Amino acid sequence: MGRKDDCIFCKIIAGDIPSLRVWDSPVGVAFLDVNPLAEGHTLLVPRQHFADLRDMPPDTLGQLLAVAPALCAAIIAATGATGVNFLQNTGASSGQVVLHTHFHFIPRRDGDGLGYRWNAGNYSEGRAEVLQGAIAEALG
Ligand code: AMP
Ligand code: ZN
Repeated sequence: MGRKDDCIFCKIIAGDIPSLRVWDSPVGVAFLDVNPLAEGHTLLVPRQHFADLRDMPPDTLGQLLAVAPALCAAIIAATGATGVNFLQNTGASSGQVVLHTHFHFIPRRDGDGLGYRWNAGNYSEGRAEVLQGAIAEALG
């Protein structure tokens, strides 16, 4: 099992640091975020250490995310929230602080004041097609 000694989530998974778990399986665990954006904010974390989404083997990711629908519904049922943001940060620029892949489930309510600055833009002529080709080519 890949473990990184200085990783806080590896320590949580090993039980060296306490956590309030809501789900525990051979592929991963889910526990309450210690500094929640809203009550019930939960983190879904693979047992093995992968720094971010790019490192996740698709099979492992699929097994881990298989619980996402039920976990989302359970968080809504338990908190009375009316929505959930399902969020993954990859890279420091995105806000990733803990370099062990994890998925945030953040309970939301109308008017809760959370949210992104969603400053939607526009593409200049031809730029979207250039990016479409570049991303598709990088995917292979
Ligand atoms: P991110 O910014 O996506 O890397 O999110 C890391 C999250 O881990 C933050 O929301 C932290 O509050 C949370 N976190 C850090 N340490 C702990 C801990 N010991 N137990 C539970 N959540 C933690
Ligand atoms: Zn780790």
